[in-house]
Amino acid sequence: MDGKNSCIILYPSPGIGHLVSVVEFAKLVLCHHPNSFSKIIIFITTTTQLNTGNTGPYISRVSATMPAISFHHLPAIPLPPSHATSVESLIFELLSFNNCNIRQALQTISSGQLKIKAFIMDFFCNAAFEVSSGLDIPTYYFYTSAASSLSPFLYLPTMHQNITTSLKDLNAFVQHPGLPPIFSSDIATPMLDRNSALYQNFMDTAVQMAKSDGIIINTFHSLENRAIAAISDGLCVPNAPTPPIYCIGPLIAKQEINSEEHPCLVWLNSQPSKSVIFLCFGSFGVFEEEQLNEIAVGLENSDHRFLWVVKAPPPKGDNESNSSSFAPQEPDLNALLPQGFLDRTKGRGLVVKSWAPQIAVLSHDSVGGFVTHCGWNSILEGVCAGIPMIGWPLYAEQRLNRVILVEELRAGLMLEESSGRRFVSGIEIEKRVRELMESDKGERIRQRVGELKDAAEIALTGENGSSRIALAKLISKWKE
Ligand code: UDP
Repeated sequence: MDGKNSCIILYPSPGIGHLVSVVEFAKLVLCHHPNSFSKIIIFITTTTQLNTGNTGPYISRVSATMPAISFHHLPAIPLPPSHATSVESLIFELLSFNNCNIRQALQTISSGQLKIKAFIMDFFCNAAFEVSSGLDIPTYYFYTSAASSLSPFLYLPTMHQNITTSLKDLNAFVQHPGLPPIFSSDIATPMLDRNSALYQNFMDTAVQMAKSDGIIINTFHSLENRAIAAISDGLCVPNAPTPPIYCIGPLIAKQEINSEEHPCLVWLNSQPSKSVIFLCFGSFGVFEEEQLNEIAVGLENSDHRFLWVVKAPPPKGDNESNSSSFAPQEPDLNALLPQGFLDRTKGRGLVVKSWAPQIAVLSHDSVGGFVTHCGWNSILEGVCAGIPMIGWPLYAEQRLNRVILVEELRAGLMLEESSGRRFVSGIEIEKRVRELMESDKGERIRQRVGELKDAAEIALTGENGSSRIALAKLISKWKE
């Protein structure tokens, strides 16, 4: 059967990063199941409250090259003054005001020529669940992080009942289905304080997600076997059925610039094979000046070649430390880094301002190690490039991801923080860089990541690849 007159709808939260992920998912569907649906529609939220980057040129490019993908711009959201205390709660709040737009759009599409086979939304779009399920449209969640962070998330309502204090005050290891023991403060930040509004948003989302028609996860079976099995076996939602989960990854976004032209790639061309350690901390990872200094000292003393992406430090008084939210600025490298550092390391080190084409960098032959903030996309990109990692988590669920990176995936080392402080000394940075790049342990990790890289390829492209099978199951369900 072909997909004449049927469509699926994707609803990402605002921001280019989320948009790129769902477009990649749409491309995956179109590539493997080209005639399944006549359209894949992506809802675009219109908001002035969040400065989430200009998505216009990207949308134009996708529209021009992939006619089966169409973008539906929702009307602007009228928002009363917000009381949100974090970017995440602002997004939840903002998107809850989008519900009337979502209802209208779904009704308009359904009353036309197209049958909506599935409505797939990002985690932060949870408020729309009641709209789509109320209209009897099969509703799915698109979870862009690890199965290992989905486990504690789905388990949150159970954990909430089992313990009476906030995880932030527990100071103990906690056990979640399919995971190694996790120290309480390593659980995702929004799940730590049961009195916060964001915690309640997470609770509500966990409850609704468990009632959805399915959860699509950007991972693959052999990467996170235990966590995936625990979720599928119903251990995270003990008193109700768990929806089916579909591990369709690793889904890696195509780089959006012409990355071959980026000067750091030209520089990498002149470096020996596997000699360079790459340091990059995601879209929002920033450090205070004192920490930048220590990184510089560690890299200089390590004697290794490096490529380091530096963002401007957070504005003074920003209490969301290590996350510059949505206000990027150009860093003044001469003022921020130790005097003479750039001259002394010239030739063997390159500092790039604000952003580098990470996927292209990781797959360059000269790169031999990756210091990452443990964002899930970054870990997957490291795995797919076969690059051993050093985990330096900064915000969101990254502390948990680091445990998974080091203990479950065995694909990286961890950096020790100075006691009582989220600060890493130059001595520690030097030591870990040397350990990764020079030691037998580093070599074992390199081999292990090589195995994971092969496993990722098999999952995606092998005849019986687990991710291919999961996608095929999903599509056949949508075509019923
Ligand atoms: N990224 C990049 N260059 C940078 C910083 C980030 O290309 O200088 C990309 C990176 O390749 C990844 C994404 O931005 O695809 C970051 O996603 P991740 O989940 O790792 O972290 P987040 O930014 O969501 O914290």
